Formats: sequence, structure tokens, C-alpha cells
Amino acid sequence: MLPALLAIGYFVVSEGHLLSADILLTLFQTNYEEIKAYLVEQNMPLWGASVFVLLVLCVALGRLITKLQTPVRHTKCFVFVILFLAYLFIGVLPRHSSCFVLNMIIRVQETLQSYKDYNATKAIRQAHLQELRKVLKTDNAEGLHVLVVGESTTRGHLGAFGYKLDTTPWLSGLLQNPSSKVKTIIYPHAYSSNIATVKSVQFALTEQNQYRDKSLADSYSLTEIASAGGYDTYWISNQKQFNYDDIPITGIANGAAKRNYINDYVGHKTLTTYYDEKLAEYFPKHEAGKKTFIIFHLMGCHAVYIDRYPSSFDFFKDGADQRVNQYDNCVRYNDYVLSLLYQKAAAEPDFMSFTFLSDHGEDPDKGLTHDFSKYTWNMPRIPFVTIFSKKYAQKHQDVVQALQANHKAYWTSDLLYNLMVHVLGVRNISAEDPQLDLASPNYAMTKDMLMVAEGTFYIKDDDIQDPDLE
Ligand SMILES: [Zn+2]
Repeated sequence: MLPALLAIGYFVVSEGHLLSADILLTLFQTNYEEIKAYLVEQNMPLWGASVFVLLVLCVALGRLITKLQTPVRHTKCFVFVILFLAYLFIGVLPRHSSCFVLNMIIRVQETLQSYKDYNATKAIRQAHLQELRKVLKTDNAEGLHVLVVGESTTRGHLGAFGYKLDTTPWLSGLLQNPSSKVKTIIYPHAYSSNIATVKSVQFALTEQNQYRDKSLADSYSLTEIASAGGYDTYWISNQKQFNYDDIPITGIANGAAKRNYINDYVGHKTLTTYYDEKLAEYFPKHEAGKKTFIIFHLMGCHAVYIDRYPSSFDFFKDGADQRVNQYDNCVRYNDYVLSLLYQKAAAEPDFMSFTFLSDHGEDPDKGLTHDFSKYTWNMPRIPFVTIFSKKYAQKHQDVVQALQANHKAYWTSDLLYNLMVHVLGVRNISAEDPQLDLASPNYAMTKDMLMVAEGTFYIKDDDIQDPDLE
């Protein structure tokens, strides 16, 4: 009865939204502080009333069942109780599937199991990597590459992507006054493959994607493949390490030879010790002639927005909605953080590429964060940017030209792996899939084929036409 009652309870307190496996999974990946922050934003009287009603319902049913000691006299009552329980368990919110609650529990179990498998198969994957090293094509692997994974930054709030406010002075400057030293490309039709951080980062940074049938356990991560290709790989994060320590982001991070979590609140709080700009101080030394691949994981624009930027970045104050003002300040601060990381990278003589994307978006305009039960299209719309050095653009004209030609193509972030291995020049010839590779002239994915959350939503249903950016 309890799962069914919880589903109904969530339906009531969320004002008409369905509980889903993705929401339950976040419980395993979150911590006490996050749960507290979530509860603070909820309608507490409604929660209280719902809990009260649930308790009354449980007690009433319990008493009814104990009264049924003489079922002959209470046949109608007995039948009612049985039917009611059956309805709760099987028929709850039947618009999804025949057994909503059971399916949800199965999906949660399967996902947690896949996380366990991922870690359990680490040794096997590493043995395969040893073999793979022999067939990897690494002629094009060289220099310094940087990948920045943002957090909760929605494309529609970036000035460079057409937002009404100049929230991206640095990026817009690069686009408006193109430097002769670098080639900057932005992608106005990029979406995250999921709106939950763990799933979205997992799919972006591993071979796994929504369009080919490959389990997480069988998928190499970008850190593993870059290391196998001879790169010194770094994972530098301002996010906490998760409580549930089997989750794949930790596994992916562990594929990097060197890891640095600058957030001292590891596992305990959503607070950060430092603002994201601190990451620039941890930019690793890159020796000329060596191969270096650095992944930065930002705290970005994760709620609570005002905690994400210093007071000197309190720039937008005049908007009617204070929350949106703070979000825009976050985005503008994020642009500043990117500029710091980029400057460090570009100062290196053999700088090759700088890539930025957000793990998923957010919907501050509707007072929402990123939540499956209140899904809007601002949640999977993400900024995606690639910057190549002149040196790289000259040497790998094919890559840069294909990306330029495809920059308006529709794309989901689970295809980042395919793009990055190509850019890094570490390619497993036997596993190449040019139809999924944005850096290939044969990229073939269209709006009709692309999806979010493994087919829960289709990009073709996005309700807003994005501005046609050149
Ligand atoms: Zn996230």
C-alpha cells in the first residue's frame, strides 16, 4: 500500500504531477541538505495535510481490516477493501502504464543495479582498454584540450544565444569580434539527453547513448579512452562527491589519473567552499609537447542561485522577478568563469580545443528548477560551444569544417563522447559511428530522431522555435 499512497501523496503535494523513477533516483544521489532545500520550497501546509490524510487513511483501513473477522457478515466491506487496495497498487494514475507503481520501482532497481554493474566491471573494462590501446588510432592526439561541464545553465538565458540581456559579455565578444587566433562555434539546437544531472553527465561522458543499445557496464568513459590514448587526464570539480558512492559520475571521474574536488562540503551540503572561479587556480600545469585533457565540473547555476556568485556580480537587479535576476547574474558569472579557464588554456602554446556545455537547463522564468514532474523545454535546452586554436583548425580542417557545417543541426549531449573522441584524435576505428558524430560530414541525426530521457520526450515537440543564429 505504501508505494501507492506515496504516489498519490506526491500527486497531491506537487499539485497534480506524477511521481517518477527519475525523482525517486535523485533520492539516492542527493543528500540531506538538498532534501531540506527542496522541502523549504514546497507548500508545507499542503504537505502536512497530505501526511495527515495518509495517516488517517492507513489507520482507517487497518481498523476496517481487523473488523473483518467475520467476513461472511462483511462481504461487501471485504470486497471494497480488496478492490481499493488493488486499485491503489495497480490502477494508480493509470495514464502511464498498466502498473504505474510497480514499473517505477522496477526502473529504480534496474538503474541502481546498472550503477553497481558499472563499478563491478571496471576491472574488465580496463583489461579491454589494454587491448584497445593496440588498435586505437592516436596520430591526431596532441596538445591541450579542455572540456567544461556546466550545471543547470539554460540556453535561453545566454546573451550569445539570443537572450535579451547581455549575460555573456565574454562569449558574445568572441563571436562578435572573432579573434584570428581561434575559431569559435556555437550550437543553437543543443539539448541535454536528460534533465537529471547523474544520467545526463553519465550519457555525455561515456560511450552510452540513447540511440544505440549499449549498457553502461560495456561503455568506455571519455576519461578512460583519453587516458588510453596517452592523455594526462584531469577531473577538477566544484561539485560534491555524491553520497551514494556507486554512482557513475564518480566512476567516470576515477577514469582520470588526477582528480581534484575543491568543494570541502563533500557529501554533506549543496554549499560550496568557493565560487567556481577558484577552479582556475587549480588549472594543471601542461608541459609543452605532452597530451593533456582536463575536465572541469562546475557548480554553475545550480539553485540556490544567489549562493553561486560573489556580491560583485550582483549586476541585474531591475527585473520584476528577483529569482530571474539572480539566475541571470549566475549566468553572467558563469561566462566570467569560462573566460578565466579559457585564458589559462589559450595561454599554452599547444592549446587545441575548449568545449563548454551544461549538464541540463533550468526554468527560472516559471519558478522551476529541473524536475521531471514539472517538465518544460527550458530544462533540456543547453548552451554548447566549441573553441579551436588556429593551430588545431589548420591541422584538422575536416573536423572544424564539419562542425561549422553542422552547427545548426539538432544534437543531444549523449553524443558528446562521439564528438570528443574525434576532437581528441583518439579513435577506435572498429567502433566509429559517423552518423552520431557531429564532427563528421555524415552526421545524420535529425530533430525527429532525437530524444530526452530515453524517449520520454522528443525534440521535435519542443514548443519554442529557437532564434536562427548565424
Ligand atoms: Zn545538474
